[in-house]
Amino acid sequence: MDAVQTLEIPTPFDVGRVNCYVFATDELTVLDPGPSTEAAYEELEAGLNAQGFAVADVDRVLITHPHMDHFGLAARVVEASDARTVAHRDATRPLADPIAHFDRERTFFKPFLTTMGVPEQIAETAVTLPEAYTEYQEPLAVDRELTDGETVDIGVDLTAVHTPGHAPGSVCFVRETEPIAFTGDHVLQHISPNPLLTVAPGTDDERTRSLPTYLDSLHTIQAVDAEVGHGGHGEMISDLNGRAEEILDHHHRRKNRIADLIGETGPMTAYEVMQELFPDLPATEVFPGMSEVIGHLDLLEDEDRVAISEADGIRQYALR
Ligand SMILES: [Zn+2]
Ligand SMILES: [Zn+2]
Repeated sequence: MDAVQTLEIPTPFDVGRVNCYVFATDELTVLDPGPSTEAAYEELEAGLNAQGFAVADVDRVLITHPHMDHFGLAARVVEASDARTVAHRDATRPLADPIAHFDRERTFFKPFLTTMGVPEQIAETAVTLPEAYTEYQEPLAVDRELTDGETVDIGVDLTAVHTPGHAPGSVCFVRETEPIAFTGDHVLQHISPNPLLTVAPGTDDERTRSLPTYLDSLHTIQAVDAEVGHGGHGEMISDLNGRAEEILDHHHRRKNRIADLIGETGPMTAYEVMQELFPDLPATEVFPGMSEVIGHLDLLEDEDRVAISEADGIRQYALR
């Protein structure tokens, strides 16, 4: 495990660089190689070269979750190396055909966002935008589909802890004998990960309840009791459980702020709540913004604190 190296791979996204972890034991394992861009490939190649390896030497690619800044380049690594790919089973469908996954999302979420009060044109932009990103990811076949608690032997045993919420099929890879977790985007040091809505695994016409699921998964990773986390972006997480607690607190406060807002304003759509919470959000950020707000409304619904009504196809939330 001393042989783990971090490569900071460039991405074309606002999030900046993605952390790719390289484990050199008897075999060479790469966790989250980055997006499918020439710049990312060159950086990965240079990073491996610096350790005396080539891309062709990679034996195994681990994927923490099916987002293109993490997995986009994996197919090219496999092509060069014949590496085996490992991901959670809920990630396999979006990985196998990312474009079909976007199509499913667009089909489901455009009318859904309209129901949530988003004006037609903005809803269209919000669900169409990711198409521009299709070139940053290549379809990836998963050789080994993980379920929660399974171990992957990469020279040391890593346990896959299923942590859905930021994405279905998100896993943290935990080295049990040392207090270390590779957290993907489940826990990050400087960013509160977005509980993005998506179509539920195995369905075409159901959405995830991403934020309630995400908060459950924060408790799941806390129960692992790893000391240190290595996230998919940014610095090492020196106090993983403390950081998870901060994110739990952040969402708890935001949920109550939204409840107060609805209490003061009267019945509101999710879109109206989003505009109050995040004024002047560009259309490109509407989907993450709505995911966040709907996540909190889901929490309030689960706690029986809001009443939901629908008139003329538009859903409104009122405080009970
Ligand atoms: Zn992500
Ligand atoms: Zn990411």
